Amino acid sequence: MEKTIFQKIIDREIPATIEHEDDKCIVIHDIAAQAPTHLLLIPKKLIARIGEATPEDAELLGHMMTIIPKLAAKLGWSDGFRTVINNGPHGGEAVPHLHIHLLAGRQMAWPPG
Ligand code: IMP
Repeated sequence: MEKTIFQKIIDREIPATIEHEDDKCIVIHDIAAQAPTHLLLIPKKLIARIGEATPEDAELLGHMMTIIPKLAAKLGWSDGFRTVINNGPHGGEAVPHLHIHLLAGRQMAWPPG
């Protein structure tokens, strides 16, 4: 199976602006930012989408959740931010490698499109 674009970034085959990295995940700046700050929090393990995560992934997913408040503190998101996980075609998922969008720096609208 061909590597996803995010796997290529993790493997340093293509460049990205990296905001955080540890042994379990990487956080990069989205190449087509939809907010003043738009990050993607990506597990190094290939899980195609959140709908395919298993109980074995609980520790990894929990770890990823703990990265979010650290980023919020580091980047000064005191006015709030939004997290988005797109899943499959109706969810608008373009890259089949789980990623959590983190959007900050402007007022978000609801409902989402
Ligand atoms: P999705 O629609 O939830 O799958 O989001 C995929 C995201 O990946 C989009 O917001 C894209 O702008 C972003 N993206 C695609 N290629 C790259 C890249 O090479 N670097 C950083 N972000 C990317």
